[in-house]
Amino acid sequence: MRFIYALLMLSIFSTASFAEVNVVATLPWIGSVAKEIGKEKINVAVLVKSGQDPHFVEAKPSMIVAAKNADIIMYNGLELEIGYLPLIITSSRNPKIQPGQKGNLDCSISVNVIEMAKTDLDRSMGDVHASGNPHYHLSPDNVLKAAKTISERLSSIDGGNSDFYRSRFDIFEKGLREKMKEWDERMAPLKGKKVILYHRDMNYLMERYGIGVVGYIEPKPGIPPTPKHLQSLIEAGKREGVSAVLVNTYFERRSPSFVADKIGVKMLMLPIDVFGVPEARDYISLMDYVTNAVKEGLR
Ligand SMILES: [Zn+2]
Repeated sequence: MRFIYALLMLSIFSTASFAEVNVVATLPWIGSVAKEIGKEKINVAVLVKSGQDPHFVEAKPSMIVAAKNADIIMYNGLELEIGYLPLIITSSRNPKIQPGQKGNLDCSISVNVIEMAKTDLDRSMGDVHASGNPHYHLSPDNVLKAAKTISERLSSIDGGNSDFYRSRFDIFEKGLREKMKEWDERMAPLKGKKVILYHRDMNYLMERYGIGVVGYIEPKPGIPPTPKHLQSLIEAGKREGVSAVLVNTYFERRSPSFVADKIGVKMLMLPIDVFGVPEARDYISLMDYVTNAVKEGLR
C-alpha cells in the first residue's frame, strides 16, 4: 500500500531580506532551478518534501500562508498537483497567482511530453497520468526548457532585473549542457538493457538512454499491485532478461523486492527529486547521483 507522508514542512531556500520576489514552488527540483536563475533576487519556498509522493499531497494551512505571500507560484503541471494546488491557490485569495495571471506558472508549457494518448476512461479508472507522463524533470532537455520558461517569467514580473535573470539562465544552460555530455557518456553502455519500474516516474530517463522498461509494479499509475499482476511481471522479467527493479525511495519495498528476488536481480532504490538523498543538493547533483547509481546497478 502506498504510504502518504503526514508530515509536511516548507523548505526555505533563502530568506535574504533584500530579495524582492517571493517564489512558491511545488516541488524541490522546481525550487532548485528557480533559485539557480533568481539567486539573491528571489526567496523560494517549496511546498512538497522530496520524500513525498507528489501525486498524493494534502493541502496544509502552512501552504496557504506561503501562497498568500507569493508573487509567483511555479508548478510541475500535467495534473501532478491537481489534488491540492487548486485549493491552495483559491484559498490564498492572492490575485497575483490566480490562473491566467503572470504569477501562475505551469513549468510544463514548453516541455516535450511522453505517453500522452490517454482517454477519460483511464482517468476514471484511477490513472494519475491521464494528461501524459508528468515526471519530465529526469529529462535534462526538458529541465532546460522549464528553466527558460522560469527565467522569462521572472523577467516579466521583475522587469528591473531582467538582464540578471537572462544571464543566470545562460550560465545554467552552459553548466547543464556540459553535464549532459558527461551523463550521456556514462549511460551509453547501458543502451539495450531492460528494467522493471515501480511507477512510470523514470521513463524520461530510460527513454533518453535507450533502456527498455518491461513492466511496472503498479498495473496503472497510482493503482496498487495485485498478486496476479506481480506474478505476470515476474514471468515477463525472466523472459525479457531484466537487469534490475528500479524503485523511487518513497514507495513501499515489499512488492518490488519480492519481484526482484523471484527474477534473481537487484532492487535499486533511487531518489527522484532534489534532497531525496543528501548528495542531491540541486538538479545537477541529483542527476549525477541517479546516473551513477543506475550505471552501477545495471552493470
Ligand atoms: Zn506519476
